[in-house]
Amino acid sequence: MRHFAQNTSAPGTVLSGQVSVDLSAISDNVRRLRELSPARHFMAVVKGNAYGHGLVDVAHAALAAGADWLGTAQLTEAIILRRAGITAPVLSWLYLASASSDVIREAVENDVDMSVGSVAQLDVVAGAAREVGRSAAIHLELDSGLSRGGARMEDWPELIAAARKAELNGSLGVRGVWTHLAWADVPAHPANAAAVAAFEDAVRQAREAGLEPELSHVSSSANILDRPEFAFDMVRAGLAIYGLAPADHLDPAEFGLRPALTVTAPVVLVKKVPAGTGVSYEHQAITHESRYLGLIPLGYADGIPKGISGRSIVQLGGRRVPVIGKVCMDQFMVDLGPETGGVRVGDTAVLFGDPDTGAASADEWGSAIGSHGDEIINRIAPRLPRAYECPDYQDSPEGAPHVP
Ligand SMILES: *Cc1c(COP(=O)(O)O)cnc(C)c1O
Repeated sequence: MRHFAQNTSAPGTVLSGQVSVDLSAISDNVRRLRELSPARHFMAVVKGNAYGHGLVDVAHAALAAGADWLGTAQLTEAIILRRAGITAPVLSWLYLASASSDVIREAVENDVDMSVGSVAQLDVVAGAAREVGRSAAIHLELDSGLSRGGARMEDWPELIAAARKAELNGSLGVRGVWTHLAWADVPAHPANAAAVAAFEDAVRQAREAGLEPELSHVSSSANILDRPEFAFDMVRAGLAIYGLAPADHLDPAEFGLRPALTVTAPVVLVKKVPAGTGVSYEHQAITHESRYLGLIPLGYADGIPKGISGRSIVQLGGRRVPVIGKVCMDQFMVDLGPETGGVRVGDTAVLFGDPDTGAASADEWGSAIGSHGDEIINRIAPRLPRAYECPDYQDSPEGAPHVP
């Protein structure tokens, strides 16, 4: 069964740019990554609305393909997964530890695992667990050098002692110990080996303190592809499940991964302009000969970066055409050339998608603006309608596709 669902949450507000998400690409990527990684457990990271692909739909596709954990940064996203009926283990690592937090209580009630990186966080989660009347599952986070979440090595003994105490009084259980590498995207960097050694020491200390974490986890996508020896019990894959490059030197296609997300828009106007015509604001582009321009109804309000101007990055009529002049808020122009090349109003321009089809990849867009594909896909505005192409879920215990 193939299934196509259209999200029309904002009818009438959007002209006709379209985001298509091929969930079978996500499933295939998850299967491929599971083959590549020696870890027993596989977390699909679905933070940031699944990197802009759609939280619940991606979660179903990833679970159906063999992921057995889901990860979100924001705790509220973990709750959304539960409300959507997803029962697989979920870990969240970003929330405000406030004693009055309904979200934390709801997380405990709904078996959402929470990361804990300080005694203050631990106290809040344990307090919520006592109020709810059940034990909270936590993953202790070591700050191995990223200086983001987590406890530094010098604060680790205090944290594990507090966690052990809370375990003994029944308010929580330490299910995991984890860290996130500062140099994750440069897998060969020597700081990674040092951070992993510190992590191993932290796990040993936790065991000596009486904790029995089932899961040690460190690796994100780049390490899955490049440092399988960092796999431990579980890997946390984000970019790679979306078919994007987790590091400059790691080409997703070489690993059998492909992008899931395609952004298209119709050409809404084709017109001829004479030589010497200034195009878009401040006439940053001026035609040197008579040209045909195509108008594309997407702009920086939709997440099209201004820096893309001048790049031959839009696929139209079987070729690449350049963006000409400044990108406007809702629209930009492409330069079709001295002839239209057969391009007509209503034709579909592919902004980015699967490079196998000749389209630019999100990674190509990212490098064109001095960034990476992740920034491009995460910028795509929620106002654009999403269409989901779903693989067959019939064999999956996680069940039916979610129709947005
Ligand atoms: C985002 C994130 C990941 C996934 O990283 P990718 O490079 O996208 O695979 C894993 N772990 C944590 C803690 C993250 O924040």
